[in-house]
Amino acid sequence: MLSEAKSASGGKLTILGSGVAYLTPERSCPAYLVEEGNTKVLLDCGAGAMTQLAKIKVKVTDLDAVFITHQHADHLGELLSLILAIYVANIYYKAEEKKLTIVGPEKFKENYNKLFEVLFPEKNPNFQIEILELVNGSSVKVGHLKVESAQVPHSQIFKANAYKVSHNNRSIVYTGDIDNRPNEWGDLVKMAQKCNYLMVDTCRPIVWEQGYHLQPKQVGELASKIEAKNLILTHLTDLNKEGELMAEAKKSFSGNVIVAKDLMEINI
Ligand SMILES: [Zn+2]
Ligand SMILES: [Zn+2]
Repeated sequence: MLSEAKSASGGKLTILGSGVAYLTPERSCPAYLVEEGNTKVLLDCGAGAMTQLAKIKVKVTDLDAVFITHQHADHLGELLSLILAIYVANIYYKAEEKKLTIVGPEKFKENYNKLFEVLFPEKNPNFQIEILELVNGSSVKVGHLKVESAQVPHSQIFKANAYKVSHNNRSIVYTGDIDNRPNEWGDLVKMAQKCNYLMVDTCRPIVWEQGYHLQPKQVGELASKIEAKNLILTHLTDLNKEGELMAEAKKSFSGNVIVAKDLMEINI
């Protein structure tokens, strides 16, 4: 039984940062770790990501890939520091150099190259970094994990991706930032249909009428369209209380609702 249960696993999610762009003692900026066997994938890399990895004793040199949802700084602010950290750790620990794959939406490569040029004028680090762009509907494999992308509405200026990570017919979908334009949710709804876990940007305060993000009730509406088995509310501001978040999301979604907390672990 034990081995059966083990083989049915879709991997493990650790919520590194469940907060918004500013840090609180409880919530770090967006960053999520998905692990399956020896494969370690980071979804977003906001401020505090490395501190949280250190707390759970995951070495930066063990990461295989980082998936960036979009170019707002709360989602990629620590990416270049992470690259420097891997470079320095490789030297200090004489670690075996491992390729790091960094994935983002359309135009990501161009933006990454600009950041790299400013922050690494000496052209190091020289370990192998592969930069990929995942356009709407495309996918990539990292170890046994399959990662697919769907474009989501968030900015008028640049593209934003949601990602679906799957293994053993189990999946978790992370929306990144998304706004309330349901007529543009189609690709996400299709990709995420009946996923095991749906983790959604819920950072719009309940009392705000307009905004670039979703309120918990709208998150529930999205989760209902997707028929998600479990809904994780994340990217949380301290302006919304946990009980209110849960109650609002349940107005429009009848499945299981989880309010994200930093360092929470979920077996997918
Ligand atoms: Zn954003
Ligand atoms: Zn954000």
